[in-house]
Amino acid sequence: MGDVDAVESVASEVAGIWARVLEIMRPNLNAASFSTWFAQAVPLRVDGDTLVIGAPNQFTRDWLVKYTDRTREALAEVLGRAAGVIFVVDPQASGGVPEPAPVIEVAPVPASSSSGEPEGVRPEPPARPAGSTFDPAQTFETFVMGDSNQFAYSAALAVAERPGRAYNPLFIYGGVGLGKTHLLQAIGSYVADHFPHMRVRYVTAEQFMNEFIGSIGDKQRIDGFRQRYRTNDVILVDDIQVLSKKEGTQDAFFHTFNTLHQAGRQIVLASDRPPGEIPMLEERLRSRFSSGLVVDIQPPDLEMRIAILRRTAAGDDEHGGKDVSDDVLAFIAERVSSSIRELNSALLRVLFYGSLSHKAIDIALAQQVLRDSFPEHSARPISVATIQSEVCRHYGVSRTELVGAKRTQSIVYPRQIAMYLARELTDHSLPRIGSEFGNRDHTTVLHAVTKIQKLMSEHRDVYDQIQTISSAIRQKS
Ligand code: ADP
Ligand code: MG
Repeated sequence: MGDVDAVESVASEVAGIWARVLEIMRPNLNAASFSTWFAQAVPLRVDGDTLVIGAPNQFTRDWLVKYTDRTREALAEVLGRAAGVIFVVDPQASGGVPEPAPVIEVAPVPASSSSGEPEGVRPEPPARPAGSTFDPAQTFETFVMGDSNQFAYSAALAVAERPGRAYNPLFIYGGVGLGKTHLLQAIGSYVADHFPHMRVRYVTAEQFMNEFIGSIGDKQRIDGFRQRYRTNDVILVDDIQVLSKKEGTQDAFFHTFNTLHQAGRQIVLASDRPPGEIPMLEERLRSRFSSGLVVDIQPPDLEMRIAILRRTAAGDDEHGGKDVSDDVLAFIAERVSSSIRELNSALLRVLFYGSLSHKAIDIALAQQVLRDSFPEHSARPISVATIQSEVCRHYGVSRTELVGAKRTQSIVYPRQIAMYLARELTDHSLPRIGSEFGNRDHTTVLHAVTKIQKLMSEHRDVYDQIQTISSAIRQKS
């Protein structure tokens, strides 16, 4: 089956589901409110197992959010299982105008871990008083530890147990989606639970920047800004790399940092790269950042990825707990290796599509969903040898024939398909591919590629054959 069809059918399925959700909700809502608010909501996409609904502006979105529980109930009724709903501002969704970004006065809790933080979603509006809540899904208990993150984990725990007295500052860095925010949140929860007298605050460097900029030139707001930051016992600053190039903010940050540090308050910083690699970071900040303990988080290895998925599948218990077989978990873990966020999101998407289509959660389903979601993803590079052996198996020819000189159609066609796939699925150059097919010239490879492309666009069955073979290859890689 074609990817395009699959994507389209998912989109129309999502639209159909939303229509049914509205049907269920309509009788329970005042008709005027319904047409004012829900009529403007547009189903955008599925993130993990969460349905993302767009509103044309912040005002509408805030109104819709109040109906989250009811919407979720209606969605559960339609799907026959629980699933999440979030409302986001999406000006494109109905041609509305974007609102100016509000100056954020308090620290909102980041999106919960189970659905990951959907790309492109605007920050939650300020809803809770500063530092009062941390994400209960992102604690030390829910953090899976392995070789790749054990130092960061231990350091974070030490800091949480003895704020201001273990490592100060603690600087955690690592790639996107590897658990930095999770650890900051875990520290926050831990401190809030164990040291209720302490003031602990989580903030992204971006919020810090906005608050700082919003306070410039207004004495009262500057005082408020200082007050807010300088009275904290523990401050957790996320995504510090955005301070890069922002000189004014760096200055404010430097002074805040010094005040807190000198007073023995705990500072924890997270960044996507080490202090030395943040461009345009003032030297004095760089050396402050490195003056405590700097720890990194590396991408998890396969075993750990499986452990994380197992946890996520089990932890999906607000949705009734899912028993997902190990081979499906391994299948996903082998293919999604860069980020834990993507890893979890891939699994949740598989579960979600499984319930949409009432299909069993098996490798075939995982394969289809992953192909749609991560077309370029593959844990290990695919080798030409794997491609050749799969093509041979499919067409019943031997490898010797495939790379040999014979020019009968029954051999030439599979040979050309294998060359085409080698071009599509590996990074190898045309000459390199030629050399793996009995030292053929690169023009021969190019000819094969163009010819198969043409055949694929004209004949659905050729397209399907190639899809089948390439899924088989991906599964073996
Ligand atoms: P980062 O801030 O490094 O980009 P996050 O902390 O937001 O990444 O992590 C992305 C997602 O992966 C979150 O849902 C988080 O809870 C989850 N996650 C990350 N690391 C782990 C881990 N070791 N164990 C369990 N979940 C994790
Ligand atoms: Mg983060």
